[in-house]
Amino acid sequence: MKNQAYKVLINRRITKEVKIGNTLIGDKNPILVQSMTKSNSISAIIKEINILESIKCEIIRIAVPDFKTARAIKKIKKETSIPVVADIHFNYRLAIESIENGADKIRINPGNIGGKEKVKAVVNCANEHKIPIRVGINSGSLEKHLLTKYGSPVADALVESAEIWVKTIEDMGFDKIVLSIKSSDTLETIMAYRKISSRIDYPLHLGITAASGGDIGIVRSSVGIGTLLAEGIGDTIRVSLTGTSVEEVKIGYEILKTLSLRENNIQIVACPTCGRCQIDVLKLIKRIEKELNKISYKPKSAIKIAVMGCVVNGPGEAKDADFGITGGKGEGIIFKKGKIVKKVLEKNIVSVLMEEICKE
Ligand code: SF4
Repeated sequence: MKNQAYKVLINRRITKEVKIGNTLIGDKNPILVQSMTKSNSISAIIKEINILESIKCEIIRIAVPDFKTARAIKKIKKETSIPVVADIHFNYRLAIESIENGADKIRINPGNIGGKEKVKAVVNCANEHKIPIRVGINSGSLEKHLLTKYGSPVADALVESAEIWVKTIEDMGFDKIVLSIKSSDTLETIMAYRKISSRIDYPLHLGITAASGGDIGIVRSSVGIGTLLAEGIGDTIRVSLTGTSVEEVKIGYEILKTLSLRENNIQIVACPTCGRCQIDVLKLIKRIEKELNKISYKPKSAIKIAVMGCVVNGPGEAKDADFGITGGKGEGIIFKKGKIVKKVLEKNIVSVLMEEICKE
């Protein structure tokens, strides 16, 4: 087993520290995983946040389309524990109502809030309540004059919009700013974040907007967010998927763990399978994940578990794994560090593997 839980190979760009509720982002704080609720009723929102908390979602954003929702933030906060971000579009009064009801952060898109005076009203209220504002620049709602200048919402147009609004808000005497600068085009998003990160030092929230769902959404988000994180850019992330918020959080953690930006205490690796495969590798991975969740297993140090398709090559190909399994023809094989240590009935392979892991 390795002594170090995870290694740090990425030089993170250091940003200003900003407090959101009881959580700190930016500076050298861990990169946090955020999601957004997808429920409509207040009780369903609370239930969804509680589920997300149980899988370690660290910041939650909720859509605030009306005053009923803005006022319900008080109740939502009482019944959940992670910081709640109110997502506001068009109506600045909803932002003010959300702040007065305890929102830990406001996300506004200055381009659609109705002008400088309305932004100022939100900024003053946030200042009074000492909460940060995320300035969410988005390719879908770029100011008309920038669209005319650039022709389309390219990276430079997003950056110019971000700089204008950051400067405008700073001039209002406010500096608890978090910034996002998203496009549905992954490459434009990467270019925009690269540029803005060299010009400002506020924390950056990363995401690919309208990334779609399923495999396409996961790939777009992973490539976009992963590329930026690998370059040291980003303080919080949200994998925006046309799917469940639970999926968003799980993929978010996988991206961070893949880059060793968050602890990866249990790493499951598996062979891609080939014509020699004798077991259902995918099914075994799911069973192992389920068992590990059931026992809430927390190893003293990082472990790697390999699930391999055949006994001929499996143990050798996975000799760097701490534990491994393979099987076929009714038999299961448990191996440690590439050496076969046990033969068991195939149906018992996962339970015996768990026993071996828990012994360590
Ligand atoms: S471990 Fe066996 S089944 Fe898996 S890829 Fe290698 S040779 Fe194929």
